[in-house]
Formats: sequence, C-alpha cells, structure tokens
Amino acid sequence: MTAIEQLPLREELRGKSPYGAPQLDVPVRLNTNENPYPLPEPLVARIAERVTEAARHLNRYPDRDAVELRTELARYLTRTTGHRLQASAVWAANGSNEVLQQLLQAFGGPGRLALGFEPSYSMHALIARGTGTDWHAGPRREDFTVDLDAARSAIAERRPHVVFVCSPNNPTGTAVEPDTVLALYEAAQEARPSMVVVDEAYVEFSHGSSLLPLIEGRPNLVVSRTMSKAFGAAGLRLGYLAADPAVVDALQLVRLPYHLSAVTQATALAALEHTDTLLGYVEQLKKERDRVVAGLSDLGLRVTASDANFVQFGRFGDAHQVWRQLLDRGVLVRDNGVPGWLRVTTGTPEENDAFLSAVADVVDAAGASVTSEENP
Ligand code: PMP
Repeated sequence: MTAIEQLPLREELRGKSPYGAPQLDVPVRLNTNENPYPLPEPLVARIAERVTEAARHLNRYPDRDAVELRTELARYLTRTTGHRLQASAVWAANGSNEVLQQLLQAFGGPGRLALGFEPSYSMHALIARGTGTDWHAGPRREDFTVDLDAARSAIAERRPHVVFVCSPNNPTGTAVEPDTVLALYEAAQEARPSMVVVDEAYVEFSHGSSLLPLIEGRPNLVVSRTMSKAFGAAGLRLGYLAADPAVVDALQLVRLPYHLSAVTQATALAALEHTDTLLGYVEQLKKERDRVVAGLSDLGLRVTASDANFVQFGRFGDAHQVWRQLLDRGVLVRDNGVPGWLRVTTGTPEENDAFLSAVADVVDAAGASVTSEENP
C-alpha cells in the first residue's frame, strides 16, 4: 500500500483532510442541509421522460453552453427576484461548488488571494486551496454578523482578488444586508478591483429578498445559487450563477468542454417545470425552521437568527460531546467546529420532533452543565 505522503503531491496539500461531512446510516439525518422531501412523483415521471429523450442522443456531446437550461434558470431568477435577466447573464455547472471552483480558476489561482468571513462555508477555503489560491479568514462579530469596519480594514490591508460573502451564511444562518454587500463591494473595488462572490445557496429560505438585483451596473459582483436546497435536488448536482455576461465569458475560458451532461441538463429542466410545487415545500420548511427555533429556545438554548433551512444552536461547554449524545439517540446533526455551537438542518415535522426530543433528553440528563455562557 502506498501512503499519500509517498506521492509527489503538491506541498500545500500535504497533511490536509478532505471535505467530509459524515454520511452515517442513522434514523434522523439532519447534518448536510438537504431538503428532506423527495421529489414529487409527477416530477420523477417528467424527469424519466426528459432523460429518455436525452438518452436517444447520448452518442453526441451535450449542448456545451446549456442554452435552454440557462434560459429557464434566467426565467426563474427573473420571476423570483424581479430582476430581469437573459441567459447570457447566467452560467450553470455541476453544483455551485463547481461554479465557485470555476470562479476561482478564472479570478484566483497561484499568486492571488481570496478572502471570506469565518465561520462560513468551509468549501470556500478548500476550493481556494485546490485552485492554488491563497486564503485569508476575515472576521465576524460575536453574533456572527459581518463587522463592516473590520471587514473593510481586512480588504484594504490584504487586497484580495476574490471576496466571498455567504448570505444566508452557512453554518450560522445569518443573512447579510444589501448595504453591507454594497460597502464590501466598494471596498473591494478600491483595494484592487476584485471580484465579490455572493453565495446565495440558501436564499429561498430567507425572510428577506435576494441580493441578486445588486449585480446591475456592478460587473465584478456575482451571485451563486444551487438546486441542491430549495429545489430538493442535491443528488442532481446543479449550481448556477448570475452576473454580468462578461463574467460568463470569463468562465468559459476555464470550464471543461461539455462539463454539464445531457442527463443533468434534462433533469434540471424537468425540475424547473415544477418550480411552484418545489417552492411550496420551501414554505413548509420555513415554518418548520421557525418551529425548531422556538423549540430550542423553549429548552433554554441559544439560537442564531436563521434565514436558511438550518439552525445554529448552543451554547455548549463541549459541543462535540452533545453532538455525540444526539447521535447516540439516532439524530445526526453537524459539528462545524464553531466552539460552543452545533447546526441542525430542518427536516420533516417527524424528524424535527425526534430532534427536539433528543435535545430535551440530552439537556435534561446533563442539567445546566451542558450549556455555557462563557463559550461564544
Ligand atoms: N454554498 C453553500 C453556502 C453551501 O452550504 C453549499 C452546500 N452545502 C454549497 C454552496 C454547494 O452546494 P452544491 O455544490 O450542492 O450546489
């Protein structure tokens, strides 16, 4: 057996761990922010139809530019944000992770720097590393909002080529105000100018509205989205972005030819035909999210205000121990390594009941010792 250290691996990858949310077989899995509802049967049937048709042409490469899909995504974004978009301002790839990777391939890379405000989505830093881009972890306030003054100083000092703004932020659920994004954009333009990437993977679950209209007149602002959450299609692997068409042209320089399979394009188009039904599930999940927030507060726990389909809760003296105690009760949540806090994805009403009763049990068993006010 060859050990990884024996390979002529890039220096910066040595000793590093891969992304790894545990995929454990337990009754209640609330750790990866998936949508708990399977796709409705009429949509499953429509996917089969569309994929059957695509299968008849699989001897050929797919539409390299995915024009039909980008047109439908542009229609969805126009309808839900009120901001009129053409297909030329939309780009799609295999999950928004690939969209982010293409952005860093085009605008980051060796000798360049990306900056995000942590704790945030860990893949921003990991994709930076994978593309040879340096990473700087900018600060957040203790309540997990972006501290604008500190952010401005970090941008002015580090002069990043790419700035990540995650709204709603994973793992905290925190939304970012449009004025804050505008101020960050201005700071980033003054410093370099640099690209500002707003990651809106969870925006459909937000109380507020999308930041997408801010791309108007701001060619260095990008909004990335995904069908993994609101569309309940994490297994599909379809992410997309909206930006100035020049950004889309830039990404075509780094994308692999035919990166989006005909089967993926057909499936995503079928899902977009069922947008209204899927957004109906989102409304139910938002209510359930608010019920989970209330349930956790009733147990005397603290909850970070959430605009996403998950909730950050604490504060625990030893969050990992609580994670383990919940797992012992058949409930898998996420320990993102934020000291004192855990994150739970909103599930079905039954899963949320099971989660809340497991938490009650753990808090009961440990008494007050489980929570800690000292640990932020
Ligand atoms: N952005 C954020 C903030 C996420 O939490 C995730 C998935 N957990 C992604 C992007 C990537 O999602 P996908 O590649 O499935 O589109």
